[in-house]
Amino acid sequence: MTEDIDGNAVAADIRESLAEGIETLEAEGVTPGLATVLMSDDPASETYVSMKQRDCEEVGINGIHVEIDPDAPAEELYDTIDDLNADPEVHGILVQMPVPDHVDDRQVLRSIDPIKDVDGFHPENVGRLVAGNDRYRPCTPHGVQKLLEAYDIETEGADAVIVGRSNIVGKPLANLLLQKAPDGNATVTVCHSRTDDLEAKCRNADILVAAAGMPEFIDAEMVGEGATVIDVGINRVDADTEKGYELVGDVDYDSAKQQADYITPVPGGVGPMTRAMLLYNTVKAAGLQEDVDVELP
Ligand code: NDP
Repeated sequence: MTEDIDGNAVAADIRESLAEGIETLEAEGVTPGLATVLMSDDPASETYVSMKQRDCEEVGINGIHVEIDPDAPAEELYDTIDDLNADPEVHGILVQMPVPDHVDDRQVLRSIDPIKDVDGFHPENVGRLVAGNDRYRPCTPHGVQKLLEAYDIETEGADAVIVGRSNIVGKPLANLLLQKAPDGNATVTVCHSRTDDLEAKCRNADILVAAAGMPEFIDAEMVGEGATVIDVGINRVDADTEKGYELVGDVDYDSAKQQADYITPVPGGVGPMTRAMLLYNTVKAAGLQEDVDVELP
């Protein structure tokens, strides 16, 4: 029997525990603050940012939102980041990616004060994570770890195969699962578009993570019997719906389910966890900056 991994339920538990952390901060006179910065008119980016702001409001985080004209000079974004770095009410800063082509995204990431870098993409935080001394784990990979933990899926000794090597999902997740730690200790294989015999590598996985941005390309043929399948993918495909599209993952859910013991649906799997872990990092950031001991889930 295959079990669905319910990301909505796990994310709700995390949000509930974070509410206690926020109460602890409030008792010390601290309201955690998250600033989101949007320099884009892409509808998907606008939706992501507004969902993040709504999440903040629901749990009692002070959400600050800054919009910058996508045609404005890059300096306007850097100046905004400088202001937010200096603002004591802002504990976390998130610049919604992608930024326009005339803005250097690496410089954007470097400009954010590492202690406020709740996405965990500043080189200092990336280095810390690789060295096993992480400060902020990037939200999606951390969310995947929390899903595995919630369903008692052992990573220790497991063969974990990750399809995708991006800086935001594949690479940080590979590093986290590799760490000498109870939620790591896996043997990790990272696959990408040049990987030879992807099918065989995927079939060998105890834990298979799909993060390639390819709609429903992982099917039963690529899933070993009894595997755990984590579908990070979120792809818009044309469909006869009101919006004209629907969201599908990188995994062909109905097919992969024939082989998997555990599987995440899309939507309702990794997506809600990414959002919850951003709140987690913001609460952690407030605790670190205000020197308040906050218990985190
Ligand atoms: P990127 O496009 O940055 O990276 C995709 C990776 O997949 C690359 O490493 C690429 O290889 C690899 N890849 C592409 N095609 C194949 C293939 N046919 N076989 C093997 N590997 C392949 O994507 P992201 O990491 O940013 O995102 C991945 C997916 O996850 C997307 O659908 C995105 O929308 C979703 N996502 C979901 C989130 C959530 O909260 N659930 C959060 C972030 C992303 P190469 O490096 O060789 O090009």
